Amino acid sequence: MDFLLTPELSALRKEVRAFVDEHVIPNEAKIVAEDQEKKKDTLTRLRAMTRERGLYTPHLPKEYGGLGLGPMGMAALFREMGRSFVGAPAFHCDAPDQGNMDLLLRAGSPSVKERWLMPLVKAEITSGFSMTEPAPGAGADPSNLKTKATKDGDGWVIDGHKWYTTGGGDASVLIVMARTSDDPKMGATMFVVDRHAKGVEHVRDIPVMAPPLLAHREAELKFHGVRVSEDSVLGGVGEGFRMAQARLVPARLTHCMRWLGLCDRALDLCKPYILSRTSFGKELARHQAVQKMVADAVLGMHAGNLMTLHCAQMLEQGRDKEARPYSSMAKNHVAQLLVKLLDDAIQMHGGLGISEDMPFSMWYRFARSARIADGPDEVHTMVIARDYLRGAVETLV
Ligand SMILES: Cc1cc2nc3c(=O)[nH]c(=O)nc-3n(C[C@H](O)[C@H](O)[C@H](O)COP(=O)(O)OP(=O)(O)OC[C@H]3O[C@@H](n4cnc5c(N)ncnc54)[C@H](O)[C@@H]3O)c2cc1C
Repeated sequence: MDFLLTPELSALRKEVRAFVDEHVIPNEAKIVAEDQEKKKDTLTRLRAMTRERGLYTPHLPKEYGGLGLGPMGMAALFREMGRSFVGAPAFHCDAPDQGNMDLLLRAGSPSVKERWLMPLVKAEITSGFSMTEPAPGAGADPSNLKTKATKDGDGWVIDGHKWYTTGGGDASVLIVMARTSDDPKMGATMFVVDRHAKGVEHVRDIPVMAPPLLAHREAELKFHGVRVSEDSVLGGVGEGFRMAQARLVPARLTHCMRWLGLCDRALDLCKPYILSRTSFGKELARHQAVQKMVADAVLGMHAGNLMTLHCAQMLEQGRDKEARPYSSMAKNHVAQLLVKLLDDAIQMHGGLGISEDMPFSMWYRFARSARIADGPDEVHTMVIARDYLRGAVETLV
């Protein structure tokens, strides 16, 4: 395994890091404050700056204004952006738009690309991905899918109930997973749906643990006889489950990249406090219990980096199927690391850690969902064990 970056990628990584340090981190509070008033002035200004520098939507091919990065390039850059929770939006490669852009690019019809992809790339609109449903519908187990699409003349009619469509309330376009037959493998299809089409009801933004921020508002939506045309089908009728895997494996890896960036910044922020604050006659950093928290964080980040890069390398080489259990390992490890590390960062800061004077408690409220979104820990555990037992995981590489 060789994870050395090319000189070009190495230079880009440094450029992204410098941009995050100089322009994104100092504007975090302003972006949050503006967002509460539904304004995006500062974010829009930062996006213009990343576009000027050729760093905007780096995951997209060059003809769409991106850098044509593969998964390894994304790993290098997304970790740097992830050091700020508004970093990826400044480069316009945050979830869910980033994964949705990739899916529309890969599987959208020419008319879908023209109507939705181009405005999405330019950040004129936002998007949502609607797979999860309230019980008894699709959740950890997507095969519980209840939303139905019925063939009607030259189009389809969608009926169903979704929730946890991140950004769905403000979105202009949704990718909706619906049942089109009872076939266990080929029974689901993805449709591109105008969020403001007749019959799409935005029931509410679900109040959740984390504060509402940018695209991270969790929408509950109902679809009442929503008509869509044949060319709204993504990738082909019956391809839904396959396409979901194709979207989710790289998407969960990009989460790992961003989360590792946030881990890095959080631990870095702990240094000044534990090196200067004294307790029982010595600095906190000289107490073994504190050193254990630091060492666990460093070990966890190093392991998470290696897992993420290893899996990214597999995707880069086109070994997508083989990569699946490795993406589950990376996702499980990094999601748990993020939650634990932020909890420890709060612990090391005592009362200051709980206060909003430090960012940890806010980050923690966002981070907790990492162990549930994109498949809960237990489902990835199931995948890892299942694939190991059938010989699909090499433990020594
Ligand atoms: C912040 C956030 C954003 C999200 N964004 C989106 C989005 O944009 N689009 C979208 O479609 N969905 C989204 N989701 C939904 C997410 O993918 C689901 O919540 C997740 O897949 C779990 O489904 P569920 O909530 O229905 O849990 P359930 O299926 O009800 O599972 C509940 C719990 O049961 C346990 N469990 C389930 N299966 C197993 C098993 N096999 N073995 C052992 N234990 C098990 C786990 O502990 C699990 O947490 C988001 C969720 C969150 C929290």
